[in-house]
Amino acid sequence: MNSSQGRTCVIVGASHAGVGCAQKLRRQGWSGSIVVIGDEPHMPYHRPPLSKDYLKGVKDSDSILLASTASYEKADIELRRDVRVESIDREGHRILIADGTHIDYDKLILATGARARELPFAKRDFPGVFYIRNMGDVDRIRALSPAEGSAVIIGGGYIGLEVAATLRTSGIKVTVLEAMDRVLQRVTSEPVSTFFTRIHREEGVDIREGCQVSGLVGNDRVEAVELVSGELIEADLVIIGIGVIPNTELAESAGLRVDNGICVDAFNQTEDPDIYAIGDCANFVHERYQRQMRLESVQNANDQGMAAAKSIVGEPEPYDALPWFWSDQYDVKLQIAGLAEGHDEIIVRGEPETGRTMSVFYLRNKKLLAVDAMNSPRDFIHGKKLILADATIDTGLLSDAGVAILETEVSRGTRVFPS
Ligand code: FAD
Repeated sequence: MNSSQGRTCVIVGASHAGVGCAQKLRRQGWSGSIVVIGDEPHMPYHRPPLSKDYLKGVKDSDSILLASTASYEKADIELRRDVRVESIDREGHRILIADGTHIDYDKLILATGARARELPFAKRDFPGVFYIRNMGDVDRIRALSPAEGSAVIIGGGYIGLEVAATLRTSGIKVTVLEAMDRVLQRVTSEPVSTFFTRIHREEGVDIREGCQVSGLVGNDRVEAVELVSGELIEADLVIIGIGVIPNTELAESAGLRVDNGICVDAFNQTEDPDIYAIGDCANFVHERYQRQMRLESVQNANDQGMAAAKSIVGEPEPYDALPWFWSDQYDVKLQIAGLAEGHDEIIVRGEPETGRTMSVFYLRNKKLLAVDAMNSPRDFIHGKKLILADATIDTGLLSDAGVAILETEVSRGTRVFPS
C-alpha cells in the first residue's frame, strides 16, 4: 500500500502554485486525498493575461483556465471555490473555514499568493479607482469599457506598463506616473528602462518619472490625480500598480515564521514539518543563490509546486530552478532569465534608443548571471543555457551582435573564432 493512502493533503490557494502542486503531487504518486481551496469564485485561471489579452477583451474567462473541470475530476483533485480559510489549528492538524466547518490534513500547503499593495488615499470603493490582482478586478474595468477617455496609471512596474500598453492599444489616452527616476527601476537596468520608456512614448503614452502623487480628486467618482507639485491630471480611470504584499496572515497567526513571506527552507517546508509554502507567498532558500528570497512569477509558482510535491512524497530535492519571467507590451516580448544581482559588467546588444529588439547581459567575473531579451528569443534561450552551464564568456564577442550568443562562451569562441 502506498504510504499516502488514506491521508489528506490540503492546499490553500487555487492558482498557479496551488493547482500546479496538486497536479504534480498526483503525478508523483500521492494516492491520498487532495483538496484545493481557493477564495475566488472562478475556476482557477492564468493570472498574466489579466493585464494583457483579458483586459483587452480578446480573451474570455474560459480561454485562460489553468485546467478543465474534467482534468480535476480525472486526477481526483477536490477543488473548493469561493471558500476562505480562516485559520490553521496546527495541534489538531486541521484548517478552519469561514463557514465554521473544518478540514483535517496530514500535509498542508500554503499557496496563498499576494495581494495588491494599496495607496492610503486610493480606496477600492471609490468609483473609477482600480487595483489589478484578480479576475474580478479586471471584470470591473472591462464593465466600464471606456472606448475613449483617459487613464492614469500609478506605478511604472511591469503590471503598470502592461496595463498602459493594453489600454493605449484600445485607444485610451494613458499617463503613467512613476515615483522613481525611471520605470522598472526596482527590477531592471537603465538600458531596459530607457528602451521601454521610449517604446511607450512612441505609442503615445505620457510617461512621467520622478513624479509623486499626493491624492485623488473627485466627488462621486475619480476625476483627476493630484501631484505633489499641485498639478492635476484628468482621469476617467485610475489604475494602481505599486507592487504586492504576500498573504502571510494564516501562517503568522498559526505561529509560523514570517518575514516578507512565509519562511521556508530549500524544500519549501516551514518549521512545521507538515506545512509547506509555495509561490508568491513563500520566502524560501534558493539553493542556487544560497540565500533567502521571494519571487513573483509563474515559473517560480510552478516549480515550487513541484519542489513541495517531491518533498511530500519522500523524494526531496533542494529548490534551485533558474528564475525566468516574461512581460508583453505592444509588439515587444521581454523575456528574462536569471537574477542580475551582483553583476560587475553589463553588455547591451541593440540600441535602447532605437528599434524594438535589444538584449542586455549581466555578468560577474565574465560569467553570465542574467539576460533581459526584448524580441530576442534566441538570446533568452541561449543565455539561459550559458547561465546554467556557468560558462566563461568572451565579452568582446558578446558585445558583437553579429556573433551568435552561444559562440561567446570562451571554450567555443576560441574554437570558432581563433584569435
Ligand atoms: P496567486 O496567483 O496570488 O494565488 C493565490 C490564491 O490564493 C488567490 O486566488 C487568493 O485569492 C487565494 N487565497 C489567499 N488566501 C486565501 C485563503 N485564506 N483562503 C482561500 N484562498 C486564499 N508572472 C509572470 O511570470 N509573467 C507575467 O507576465 C505575469 N503577469 C502578471 C500580470 C498580472 C496582472 C498579475 C497580477 C500577475 C502577473 N504575474 C506574471 C505574476 C504571477 O501571476 C504570479 O507570480 C502568480 O500568480 C503567483 O501564483 P501563486 O499561486 O503563488 O499566487
